[in-house]
Amino acid sequence: MSSGNKTICIIGGGVAGLLAAVTAADEGASVKLFEKMSKVGLKMGITGKGRCNLTNSAPIMDFIAKTPGNGKFLYSAYEKFNNEDLLDLLHGWGLKTKVERGGRVFPASDDAQEVRHLFMDLLRKKKVELHLDESVTRILTKDGEVSGIVTDKGSYGAGAVILCTGGSSYPRTGSTGDGYRMARELGHKVTAIRPALIPLVCKESYGKELQGLSLKNVSFSIDAGGRRKASEFGEMLFTHFGVSGPIVLMLSDKASLWLSQGHEIKASIDLKPALTEDVLDKRVLRDLETYHLKQMAGALQDLMPHRMIDVILSLAGIERDLTVSDLKKAQRIALVKTMKAMPLTVTGTRPISEAIVTAGGVSVKEINPSTMESKVVKKLYMAGEVLDVHAFTGGYNLQAAFSTGHLAALSAVRSLENA
Ligand SMILES: Cc1cc2nc3c(=O)[nH]c(=O)nc-3n(C[C@H](O)[C@H](O)[C@H](O)COP(=O)(O)OP(=O)(O)OC[C@H]3O[C@@H](n4cnc5c(N)ncnc54)[C@H](O)[C@@H]3O)c2cc1C
Repeated sequence: MSSGNKTICIIGGGVAGLLAAVTAADEGASVKLFEKMSKVGLKMGITGKGRCNLTNSAPIMDFIAKTPGNGKFLYSAYEKFNNEDLLDLLHGWGLKTKVERGGRVFPASDDAQEVRHLFMDLLRKKKVELHLDESVTRILTKDGEVSGIVTDKGSYGAGAVILCTGGSSYPRTGSTGDGYRMARELGHKVTAIRPALIPLVCKESYGKELQGLSLKNVSFSIDAGGRRKASEFGEMLFTHFGVSGPIVLMLSDKASLWLSQGHEIKASIDLKPALTEDVLDKRVLRDLETYHLKQMAGALQDLMPHRMIDVILSLAGIERDLTVSDLKKAQRIALVKTMKAMPLTVTGTRPISEAIVTAGGVSVKEINPSTMESKVVKKLYMAGEVLDVHAFTGGYNLQAAFSTGHLAALSAVRSLENA
């Protein structure tokens, strides 16, 4: 094993590791990047449905707010390298970007592979020593400081190590949770791992009947009794196992936490969140007058998607072929109440392998937020999803990985300069 005192070894060629490698090399460090897969950035390549939602144009306070998993830990990283810094860097390297609805920033080409290839070119240009198909198994230490790494092919000395092995979701992209084990072996605390940004599994069979139906401008609420309640407004989707879509994913972090604590979760969909029950009742009455000669199944088409009518009628206990003029007031009230709170029982989440991000990870209490250095082992830095940090969709997770990767690289370089 070479002494490697001036070398930075980076473990994981994902989002955080790629920017860390390019940044450290730019600062003049000798960099070795280890990636266990045969290609770097496999997860980056599937982000944003293949379009790579790089970051968001929102102010940094919004990034913190959109990061339910330890957002405040990211203050320093964002102070040193924020969304504008990232875009300046990417534009300087020739990538064109565009901003879409909700401030989401994408490559103008709509192609995540363009971003991957950009980083692959940069690794070559900046002379990063790339070790593909090489899995790091251990981080070596001496006198409380990193001294090198062990891989399935050999051992390498290092003056500093950056651990960016990602989370546990989408393991086929290489993120199989190795970093958690390596960090634990060095004495780090790893908080419980669970899926975040994950579809929810429901008991009711009507998810299957409505499979593929997307609802806009609805409100989705979850309730685990007592003070555990949350609600989001926007778009959602029925699937063969339950529910998914933007507002479900946003609430899934809380749902997955409450389920892991053994709570039962009741959910409900408000199909008309802008209307109070009284106003909706008046609206229903109006429609029933218009269609008074029809059967109930034919009288509700102006109020909800066609595919929902039978399900809502059945939940409200109303026969679909009941003539509108025969509908009793109590039945109409039951119909209105069902439209305001279509009930669901959340029994679980989809498996972590299908999660967009992993909640939990290396405890941020043991990482210096101003440098990303471990408080347990000197000259060991961590970045990206291996940390107990996770955000909502909108480009916030990639920015967190980029910002922490950038800061870790600068800090690692400084630590070698001072050695
Ligand atoms: C389907 C999907 C879509 C997403 N879309 C978006 C989006 O549009 N915008 C957004 O902000 N976020 C998105 N995310 C989340 C985002 O991709 C992650 O948060 C981000 O990739 C985390 O970066 P990372 O560098 O920490 O980990 P990763 O990008 O997962 O990289 C970790 C790397 O480490 C390597 N590795 C692991 N163990 C070892 C080892 N022992 N030795 C060597 N190498 C190892 C892995 O092979 C991998 O390449 C999406 C996630 C998924 C799953």
